[in-house]
Amino acid sequence: MRYISTRGAAPALDFEDVVLTGLARDGGLYIPDQWSPISPDDIRGFADAGYADCAFRVMRPYIDGACIDDADLRALIGKTYAVFDDPAVAPLRRLDDDTWLLELFHGPTLAFKDFALQFLGRMFEHILAKRAQRITIVGATSGDTGSAAIEACKGRNNLDIFMLHPAGRVSDVQRRQMTTVLAPNVHNIAIEGTFDDCQDLVKGMFNDEGFRDALNLSAVNSINWARVMAQIVYYFTAAAKLGTADPISFVVPTGNFGNVYAGYAAHQMGLSDAKLIVASNQNDILTRFFEAGDMSIAPVRPSYSPSMDIQISSNFERLLFDLFDRDGAAVAEAIGKFRESGTLPDGARLKAAAGAVFSGFRTVDADTLVTIRETHAANGILLDPHTAVGLGAARQMVPDGTQRIVLATAHPAKFPDAVEKATGVRPELPAHLADLFDREERCDTLANDLATVQSYVRDKAPVVA
Ligand SMILES: *Cc1c(COP(=O)(O)O)cnc(C)c1O
Repeated sequence: MRYISTRGAAPALDFEDVVLTGLARDGGLYIPDQWSPISPDDIRGFADAGYADCAFRVMRPYIDGACIDDADLRALIGKTYAVFDDPAVAPLRRLDDDTWLLELFHGPTLAFKDFALQFLGRMFEHILAKRAQRITIVGATSGDTGSAAIEACKGRNNLDIFMLHPAGRVSDVQRRQMTTVLAPNVHNIAIEGTFDDCQDLVKGMFNDEGFRDALNLSAVNSINWARVMAQIVYYFTAAAKLGTADPISFVVPTGNFGNVYAGYAAHQMGLSDAKLIVASNQNDILTRFFEAGDMSIAPVRPSYSPSMDIQISSNFERLLFDLFDRDGAAVAEAIGKFRESGTLPDGARLKAAAGAVFSGFRTVDADTLVTIRETHAANGILLDPHTAVGLGAARQMVPDGTQRIVLATAHPAKFPDAVEKATGVRPELPAHLADLFDREERCDTLANDLATVQSYVRDKAPVVA
């Protein structure tokens, strides 16, 4: 399989290079040059197959044989999903006649990002061993991504991970999920500043060519194709388990558009009747686009669902590529104008093109709490606030009688304050994290200063070149 850039001006690459490269040289994102179909028979077969077998069937065509052979890929996928604490890996739970929760929080860090990052960490290790290379991963996090990336990289050969978070500005659970990982290749840095400061420091490290090359810097951010690819699988397993011939609506709590873009990939590969509902909180740029073709940037307003507090959704560019009939130059021009003026040009036409598959809905904070409270009263289930944003959209947007699957993106214990506020009940951490608050933490606090952070990283990472 060849991968092409959404901006049409970077060389086509194979899977291995796409995984290591992340962003394309022309600023675009890599996508496969064709979708590999999954037939109705394949889908029926998934109903009784294990999750790892389905994952192998869905992902194999996207991964070159030269990178990893069948037996090694099966083993790698098997190990990836064996660490999930539910035998179904991504179980479906029924809420009422038409409504299902797809529980994506049974991985080690209790959010759906484990599906992709547990796979990516192992794939990195495989590729680096094969190439006899060493890399230094640097990243900035406001919460979920950092813990999932650290958990995926801890103890792996040939890589170190440095994760920057804003000191005092992530929740206690989120911080401890990062800082209690004591593996020697994991380095937590609390920055005296905001999340944006952390991101700027990471950008500063990448922009320093000498530093970047000396340490072989790499990233695990949400635009990496391998992350999207691993997320396609559960759309198929969920559709197979439901086993209905009727169209399904998938409702996806959305931030950077990675998860719902994986749903779009599944749609293109075989779930051609499925609809995708993009659920947002009060940071509703995507809702405004899918409702009225208006994609214009507004300031970020903090919410109970912080992993969706985003204005520019990086993976949206992948959809844009198809909305522009795969014309990379047109995508580059539109993105340029969007960055310059804050508004995506030609929005009404693009929205009309997306409307056959996508719609959008916003659930503001007050309604999120109501959804959490009502679901607890009716079903005895505690929802995390991101999932509640999804369920709110499902109830409003999907006509009765249509099956709807809400992607439950986090475990309620990850966001205990909002859940307690809504229900009076404080959700408990699952057994493997029950002692999280007794564990030793390791983290260094550094000033918001590029030179300080660079010399810290240089000191701790083994120099590779
Ligand atoms: C990251 C995250 C999201 C947003 O997913 P995207 O792929 O960025 O759209 C939603 N919910 C939770 C809990 C998350 O961690």
